[in-house]
Parts: sequence; structure tokens; C-alpha cells
Amino acid sequence: MEESWQSVLAESITTPEELHKHFPACSTGLAEVIARYPLRINSYYLDLVKKHGAPLFRQAVPDMAELDDPFGLVDPLAEEELVVAANLVRKYPDRALLLAHHQCAMYCRFCTRKRKVGCREMAVAPQGLEEAFAWLEAHPQIREVLVSGGDPLLLPNEEIDHILGRLRAIQSIEIIRIGSRVPCALPMRVTPELVKILRRHHPLYINTHFNHPAELTEAAGRACALLADGGIPLGCQTVLLKGVNDEAAILKRLFLGLLRFRVKPYYLFQTDLTAGTNHFRVSTASGVRLMRDLYGHISGMAVPTFALDAPGGKGKIPLTPRYIDSYGDTLRFTNYRGESCCYPEA
Ligand SMILES: *Cc1c(COP(=O)(O)O)cnc(C)c1O
Ligand code: SF4
Repeated sequence: MEESWQSVLAESITTPEELHKHFPACSTGLAEVIARYPLRINSYYLDLVKKHGAPLFRQAVPDMAELDDPFGLVDPLAEEELVVAANLVRKYPDRALLLAHHQCAMYCRFCTRKRKVGCREMAVAPQGLEEAFAWLEAHPQIREVLVSGGDPLLLPNEEIDHILGRLRAIQSIEIIRIGSRVPCALPMRVTPELVKILRRHHPLYINTHFNHPAELTEAAGRACALLADGGIPLGCQTVLLKGVNDEAAILKRLFLGLLRFRVKPYYLFQTDLTAGTNHFRVSTASGVRLMRDLYGHISGMAVPTFALDAPGGKGKIPLTPRYIDSYGDTLRFTNYRGESCCYPEA
């Protein structure tokens, strides 16, 4: 019998003492980091960290560098300024982001919402989403709602059903999209009962979050299969992270593995300027070079859009390698193998 997701979560490492017990080489100074940014490594992800080392260790285990960050902003995407109702962020004309829960299956050290996740004062009260639902009812131009957080799939089944049901009752909302790292970080949370609830609220999409091929375990594969069999199209939002996945060979294995899980790589994100995450940043030029190693070399289905979420809430900007050399009567371009080519215009 597989362990329940609640007990996997209950066995999480959350204190400096527990961390030290599992990783004696870690600095005792990390207590200060953990006091600022919460720690949670559940027992499932801990096993993966111990098995695979650095690329997963860096994602989960705090680093002294989190306190020493000259560039970071507390709220890099200006989400606090874009709040239109409690827990509702609106950046684009036709979609809005509902922050439905403040906890996650693990606390990723590179998280954009480092300021919020896991903090008790950011908890969403049971009635805390009513204002957001009322705003959405009054704003029919919002066609799609992203339910994220934190991780909404850590909520109890009934609460998930309630939130999705309230959104579905709003005529103008066509698409519901859930953002969740659960299929990667706590795959046993995806139970047949959960899928039964989710599929009541179609068209429902889930974007999950895998960063390294070592995260593509059998358990994660089962979770994705259950969701896909429930008719839920799956996407993945990966973050480009130094020392985790900043190599073409790793990204290829990750993206091709995701396709086998029926997950379409959607975005590869440039790291945001979040305070405490500077040690994960890779230059945008290296990111664009990595994309050049993907386009054409592997299935186009496996290639996400490399995107920068512009500081100050200015929106996501695709960062694409330049293939076009010149426009005119003839379009001149370079193909994926570096050969010059042309196409006569109409
Ligand atoms: C990323 C984001 C979206 C969704 O953007 P897509 O490009 O459609 O994936 C919507 N709202 C906010 C606030 C976002 O940060
Ligand atoms: S699961 Fe997502 S929201 Fe939660 S800590 Fe990780 S990156 Fe942040």
C-alpha cells in the first residue's frame, strides 16, 4: 500500500535541526535563511535529493546565498500592484490569476513568490476568495482564470471542488487553468478521487512544473497519466536554473521525457529578479543559445517558449533565437543547422 500524500507531507523536513540531521555538511547558518524563507522538503522529494544530488539538492535545500542578494526585489512582478481583489492578480486583458492557497508540496528555493509561500500571514481564509469571485462576475472580459498560489492541489478535495465550481458558475469564464507542482513534488496527491473532482470542471488545463529529468519518476508518470486520462491537457512551466538544468542535454532529456508523460513543455522561464534567488540566474544570452540547441534538433512538440516575465508586471516576453537575417523581396534566414537559406516573398 502506497503511503498517503498527507503522511508524506507530514514527514517533511521543516526545521534547521532536521535539515542538519539529513545533511550534516550544511552550514548551521542556514537557520537564519530558514527563519526568513520557510523550508519544506517532503519525504518523497527528500529521497530523490539523496539519490540524485546537486540538481535536486539546489532546488530544495536552502543556501546562505539567499541572504546575500544585491539585485533581488521582494515582489519582482509587481503582483501587489496588480491586485484587483483579495488574492486576485490581473496583468492581462482576458485572464486573471487567483492565488488560492499559500502552501506548497515543497518550498523551492528559487520561487518567485518567495515572499508569500508558506507564510502563515498569507494564508487564504475560507471566505477569502469571495471578493475575487465577485470581481470576476463583474468583469466578463476575463475569459481564463489561472488558479495557483502556492499550490491549489494541496487543498482538501472539497475545497478544490468548491473553488472550481464557483469559477465554473461564472458564465464568462471559458477556461480554468491550474498551476501545480504536485505531479512533480508530491505525485501521490493525484488520486483517482481528485481526478474525478477535477474532470467535473472541464475545460480544465493543468500546468505543472518539472525542472530536471531525475524528477520524471514512475510515481510522477502515474500522476500525469491519471490526469491525462481524466482528459486534462497538461503543460509544464520549467525555470531555467544555474546548476540544475542549464545544459542542452539536460533540457532535451527533460522535455522529451515530459512528452512521454503526455505533458507539453509550455514555458521555460528566465529566473525572475526575486530577492534571495540571484545564485540561480543564468544570462538570457545563454538561455537563447540553449534554445538554439533545441529548435529543430528535437520534436517541436518538446520545445517550450523561453520567456522572461518582465519586471514590474509588464508581461511575459518570448526570448527566441534570431533565425531571420533580413526581410525584403527575399526573406533571408538561417536554419537550425546554421545554413543560410532564402524564401522569395509574394
Ligand atoms: C503568467 C501569467 C498569466 C498567464 O500568462 P500566459 O502567457 O497566458 O501563460 C496570467 N496572469 C498573470 C498575472 C501571470 O503572471
Ligand atoms: S511549488 Fe511553485 S509556488 Fe511553490 S515554492 Fe515551488 S515554485 Fe514556488
